[in-house]
Amino acid sequence: MTVNTLRLLIDRLERERQLEKSEFITLLEAYQNPELAASLAQRAGAVRDAAYGRAVFLRGLIEFTNFCKNDCLYCGLRHSNREVERYRLGPEEILERCRLGRALGFRTFVLQGGEDPYYTDERLVEIIVALKAAFPDCAVTLSVGEKSRESYERYFRAGADRFLLRHETADPEHYGKLHPPEMSLTNRQRCLFELKDIGFQVGAGFMVGSPGQSFASLADDLLFLQKLSPQMAGVGPFIPHPRTPLGAYPAGSTELTVFILGLVRLMLPRVLLPATTALGTLDPQGREKALNFGANVMMPNLSPLEVRSKYDIYTGKIHLDEEAAEGLDRLKKHLAQLGYETPESRGDFKAFC
Ligand code: SAH
Repeated sequence: MTVNTLRLLIDRLERERQLEKSEFITLLEAYQNPELAASLAQRAGAVRDAAYGRAVFLRGLIEFTNFCKNDCLYCGLRHSNREVERYRLGPEEILERCRLGRALGFRTFVLQGGEDPYYTDERLVEIIVALKAAFPDCAVTLSVGEKSRESYERYFRAGADRFLLRHETADPEHYGKLHPPEMSLTNRQRCLFELKDIGFQVGAGFMVGSPGQSFASLADDLLFLQKLSPQMAGVGPFIPHPRTPLGAYPAGSTELTVFILGLVRLMLPRVLLPATTALGTLDPQGREKALNFGANVMMPNLSPLEVRSKYDIYTGKIHLDEEAAEGLDRLKKHLAQLGYETPESRGDFKAFC
């Protein structure tokens, strides 16, 4: 297919915000075509600018526990990995990091962790209530995995604003290869629809280049995003972790990941789309490239320095030894040089624009 024919598909995706599965596959197969990628980046950047201007929203990420009861085959925090030194932050430590974050200009805190049964609903609610009382102008985002509808409702009533739960892959067969038998794609998708129904701003998403993933399964991921229509979408490359069953497989590709970010931006023009840490880990220019393809969120690490290396999801995670303040300052300057603003605002999803 000529690049002009492929460009027509991109035009149509921008206009109609949807494509057939076979058409997504055709585009994905051509991701290495530099002219096509350049056109996609140009369109995706323009759509992002029309929706949110040149703002890049910064979220302070607090990795509050690395205990996990699950055994996902790709993740370094999996239960079977006995070499991880496990830690938990208490409510006071979490509040302390948010105090620092608030002073640095963050207006969103993302509490992410493994699925740690120590954090019962009562304990999580207590933390959410304390954060919302201390920082009423800030959004609280949770990323704590699969729970019951009742639990999600309790977090929402306590004041949590957003929830990140990547669907990981929308292809049931592929899901089965990445997860142990007791986990199911059906349950994960149930969680996402319930979270949305409850009123959270919801983030779904997936890894690019996980072992055995095909263009057809990536097309399923795009179709799933289309169906769920989440407010946020986290799409980052797979990076092998040596202490997992998938540790010997190659990492995903930067070029394919950013190409997919561009497609997501055209499909969901107002989605909040992070330039992920995994992308920055894989490629020093990765996050910059993501911005070129329509990303508009970054999540600098606000965890205490001494726990960062223990939140070891994948190999080589960046900024492990960097003070939040100096790192943030450098990031903001860099973004300014690239022509982006970093407003001190919550950066909520815009329902209308
Ligand atoms: N327990 C929470 C948080 C998971 S960690 C939850 O279930 O949502 C956040 C994300 O890191 C995961 O959703 C997954 O997509 C990503 N991740 C895990 N292992 C990875 C790896 N080896 N390479 C790249 N991304 C990975």
